[in-house]
Amino acid sequence: MDYLDRIFRAAKEHGYQFQTLSEFIAGGHSSERKLALRLDLDFKPASLKPFVTLARKHHVTATLFVRVCGPYNVLWYPAYSAIKDAADAGFEIGLHTAVVEWATINGTDPEHILATELSLLRSLFPVRGIAPHRDVNYMHNSLPWLHDNWGDLSQRYGLTYHAYQESILSPVNYINEGLSPHLCWRGDDPFDVMKTGRSIYMLLHPHWWYVEHAFEHE
Ligand SMILES: [Zn+2]
Repeated sequence: MDYLDRIFRAAKEHGYQFQTLSEFIAGGHSSERKLALRLDLDFKPASLKPFVTLARKHHVTATLFVRVCGPYNVLWYPAYSAIKDAADAGFEIGLHTAVVEWATINGTDPEHILATELSLLRSLFPVRGIAPHRDVNYMHNSLPWLHDNWGDLSQRYGLTYHAYQESILSPVNYINEGLSPHLCWRGDDPFDVMKTGRSIYMLLHPHWWYVEHAFEHE
């Protein structure tokens, strides 16, 4: 989290304005000095807490994608309170979903489970966007299904965006971390991009980040 603190400070020094994805879209997808931080909460909801603390410290915002059909229960007391605290800090809440995977494994229809997930999450938070998740890497990827059906789905469910749509990705440098095999930036390094002033869309996974050590959220 010290490293992320340095990223936030550098972004502010370079004149970047943090925006939620909805704000980035509403503001016209500017290619200059916007930073849309996206957090995909795959596992360990408690790992979100230091992000909210840091965002409050720097007075910045983010977009948090939360799972409904994931390995944690969004309604379990500490999970809900961590997510609610993020919403109270100004984070936009979206749905992090693996609908095609879920529907394939359970022999049902992806749209039905999408409706179920949205209905539950929207009973807790306003939800305008979704980001696909993969549990089994690329075997039942939901993104092609979302792409193919986005016109209908976005209208039927009142969704403003999904996290990989071209209008979000094309004006920015997309930055994300991953295991290759060690934790690293998959492409651009944020400190390099900031020198150019180009807008940044940065995806992070809270369970990989820590304050003291990598197992503090167990
Ligand atoms: Zn994910």
